[in-house]
Parts: sequence; C-alpha cells; structure tokens
Amino acid sequence: MPLTQKIVTRFAPSPTGRLHVGNIRTALHNWMWAQKTGGTFWLRIDDTDAERSREEHVEAIRADLRWLGLAVDGEERQSSRFALYERRFDELVASGRVYPAYETQQELELKRKILLGRGLPPIYDRAALALTDADHARLRAEGVAPHWRFKLDANAPIEWADLIRGPQKFDPATMSDPVVRRADGSWLYLLPSVIDDIDMGITHVVRGEDHVSNTAAQLQMFQALGARPPAFAHEALLTGSEGKLSKRLGSLGAEHFREAGIEPQAIVALLARLGTSLPVEPVADPAPLIETFDFARFGRAPARFDEAELAQINARIVHQLPFTRVAARLPAGMDAAGWNAIRPNVATVAEAADWWAVVEGPVEAVPEAEDVAFLREAAATAAAIDDWSVDPWHNLTGALKASTGRKGKTLFLPLRRALTGRDHGPDMAALLPLIGRERAIERLLA
Ligand code: GLU
Repeated sequence: MPLTQKIVTRFAPSPTGRLHVGNIRTALHNWMWAQKTGGTFWLRIDDTDAERSREEHVEAIRADLRWLGLAVDGEERQSSRFALYERRFDELVASGRVYPAYETQQELELKRKILLGRGLPPIYDRAALALTDADHARLRAEGVAPHWRFKLDANAPIEWADLIRGPQKFDPATMSDPVVRRADGSWLYLLPSVIDDIDMGITHVVRGEDHVSNTAAQLQMFQALGARPPAFAHEALLTGSEGKLSKRLGSLGAEHFREAGIEPQAIVALLARLGTSLPVEPVADPAPLIETFDFARFGRAPARFDEAELAQINARIVHQLPFTRVAARLPAGMDAAGWNAIRPNVATVAEAADWWAVVEGPVEAVPEAEDVAFLREAAATAAAIDDWSVDPWHNLTGALKASTGRKGKTLFLPLRRALTGRDHGPDMAALLPLIGRERAIERLLA
C-alpha cells in the first residue's frame, strides 16, 4: 500500500446487544490505528438484521464510545445502504459469482450428515449450479424462493499477510460457497460488509480472530467486485481471568465498569496493551499508547482479561486525575484541596465521598482509657496553635511529642482514631486542614 494512502478503519458492531470487553478492544485498536496515522475512524452499524437490531443498542454503542473517548469521524448504517447492496449483488449475479439455491435447512442438514458419515468434509455440493432454466422456472412457479450463494473460485488460492497472524492460506476447494442472502431477501453479514468496506475506502480491517474464515471468503468477494482488499489484522481473543473463554466476559460492558467505578482511561490503558509485548501501564492520557501502537507487537495467544488487574490500573489512574476531571462526581463542598488530600487513598472516584464524610463528620470514635487524657491535651494544644493555616498536623504532633513524650504509633494512632474514626486513611497532614480546627477540637474532646 502506498505510504501516502490515508488510513481508514471502521468499527462495525451489530446492534444486537451492548458492547462487551471484546468489542471495546476491537473498537479501541481501530481507533488507535487511525489516530496514530492521522487517518479516519468510522462507526459502521451492522444492522442488516432488522429482527435482532435495536435502536436502544445503537444509542448505547454511541454513548459507550463517547464515554471511552473514542471519537468517531463518521457513522454509516447498513440499513440505509440496501440500494447499494442490491446494485452490487446484481453485478455478481450477472457475472455468475452469486447464484440461487433452493435447498431447505433440512435438506442441507441431511447432505452434511451423509458427507460426514462417509468421512468427507461437509462442503456444499453446488447442486444448485446444475439446475437447468426449466428447473428454476418450475421451482419458482411452485413458489420456492431461492437463497443466494457466493461462488468461490476453487482455483484461486486464498492468501493474505495478516498484520497480526502473519501469512494466511486457505484452500477454497475445502470451503462451502457461503450464503450471502436469504430467501426473504435479507442480507447475511459477509457481502454487505465487503461492499461497504469497498465503498467506504476502508484500508484496514481490525477484528477478532473468530472472523478469519470469513476473511478467506470475503477476499474473493473483494476480487469479484473488482476491488483491492484492505489489510487485515485478526486479534487473538480474550479469555477470562481463569484462562478460559468465559461467558462473563461477554457480559462485561461499559455500563458494568462505570458502575464499578472504573474510569474509561483505565479500560483504554489495559485494552490498548493487553495481549501485546508492551507492558500495561496506568496512563491516563492515550497519547503514548497511540504512539507505540503497532500490530507487530500483538501476540497470537489468547490474552487474559483480569478484572482485578483492571481495578489496580484504575486506582493508579484515579490517583493521577486532576480535580477538574472529577469535580462533577464529587460530593458537594469537596474542593481541589479535598480531592488532592483524599485522591491517593481511593481506588475509585466514588470512594472519595466516604472520606469526605469523614472530613465533614460526624465521626464515631471511643478512645481507649489510656488515651483520654492525652486527647484532652491534644485538644488544648490544637486550640493553642498560633497559625493553624500552616501545617497544623506537624505543629500539633510536634508539640504533643515534646509535652507528652509519646512517639510513633502511640502518638499518631489515638489522634487519627479520634479525628477520623478510623485506623487508616489519607495522610493526616492533608486531612487535618480539611477537618479544621473547630471540628478537630470537638472530636478530640468527644
Ligand atoms: N458486525 C460484525 C461483527 O460484529 C463485524 C465484523 C467486522 O468487523 O467485519 O462481528
């Protein structure tokens, strides 16, 4: 491909459900490749299946991509492109590359069983190609509508250099002519996808390796339509954390992650690198991920998607998020100082509310008997601090250390407990100014 050619990718989900981790990953890589090369990234809604496609899913797909930060340069919908499919289909019928067939499902099933019984591969026998004009006329007169198959060229070996899997070879003689259109006129996925990829000028098709055999058939369709095929990159599939293809993965989508407090940047950071030879890094900005994106780095083994790993990356990304990025999701009254103090201690943005509740109180703490007098003294010391606005925690603990001789845990823990009601939490030096002198004294005396 000439280097000057603009890269055009597409993400082509069927709106029969919400996006799941696997689709999100495919979308991400198409987007990244276009971003890296200054190319164009299309969303193509593969909604030829009117029965199973839902408008609510189309909207959810758009919303999920927006949430993930994967801006699309344009959108096409297959359901509004039927006239184009019809035209190109007619060309293929005229050139003999698409032909009508009349077998019922039961007949096809029987043929399969017979071949399998004889130890032969269950390839469609092309009986329909032997029908005479009179046979066609009779069948149609009987009201039998044909479905349509694409005629593979058995003499043209199928080969491509997959950007991830390397050289691929298929023998068309071992493949059945795929059905491209049903008897009711509706389209199956294979042909409209090729017609669109040609019409949209797609240069790279990045998708899961479950499509590899589709690609083999589709390559001949590109040829039959007089087009040069795009480059293909088939990604190894994801497995669940237990290492198996899991059902759960198929149900994990943006909504689930959002509810679990996962930031879109964490999903992007993990899925950008998962299954590649580059390390997964908790970066909140996709720029370095885009810069290093390279199909040659992708492995061929299934990659393991682990929600625990995602949660860890998420926490590390949350620790980097500036106040302005999270402000809308913080409790009322929590300001930049509050966020900065609390941020290192949360795994999700939502958890900040728990710590903000600790700042605002009330907190519950019952001091140990041996700490009661110490805490009284702490309250008096807090009241006596000259300038509370400068590092009150170090002033307070410094003075108490000198006056009581306490140090380490016996000095800090009773104070933390009385001031926050908890044994652990954000740095007290950051928390105490937020709690404020008045509330601090109250809590020390409680
Ligand atoms: N609609 C197809 C799918 O969701 C698209 C596959 C492709 O990328 O061509 O599997």
